[in-house]
Amino acid sequence: MSDDCIFCAIVSGAMPSEPVLDRGSVYAFRDIAPAAPVHVVVIPKAHISDTRDVTPEHGQVLAELLMAANEVAEAEGLGSGYRLIFNVGPDAGQTVFHLHLHVLGGRPLGPMASR
Ligand code: AMP
Repeated sequence: MSDDCIFCAIVSGAMPSEPVLDRGSVYAFRDIAPAAPVHVVVIPKAHISDTRDVTPEHGQVLAELLMAANEVAEAEGLGSGYRLIFNVGPDAGQTVFHLHLHVLGGRPLGPMASR
């Protein structure tokens, strides 16, 4: 847990969120500024700043993260396709420095750069 991290505050319940899935070491909630009709953020409950801080010890939680993202996509009706995105660092648009996987779908998403 990191004191000034809004996603840690969401995990602890100190900040509200709209839950989508809560299981084991991961939590998923709706993005507050959706970039697509379905936009869910999946996070590890434990604080990891970004993918560059991932070590082999995170293998289990990363598997849970990916499985949760796929389960969310299925539950949200995205069977015909969706996009999973990790933004890594400011130049990629990362604004919250707690590892998170965006699940985007519900419309044709176009080229990668358009997110
Ligand atoms: P990134 O830009 O990859 O760091 O993604 C951070 C995402 O978190 C953005 O899409 C924000 O809209 C979203 N976000 C920030 N604060 C909240 C919040 N309190 N509840 C839900 N989503 C949030």
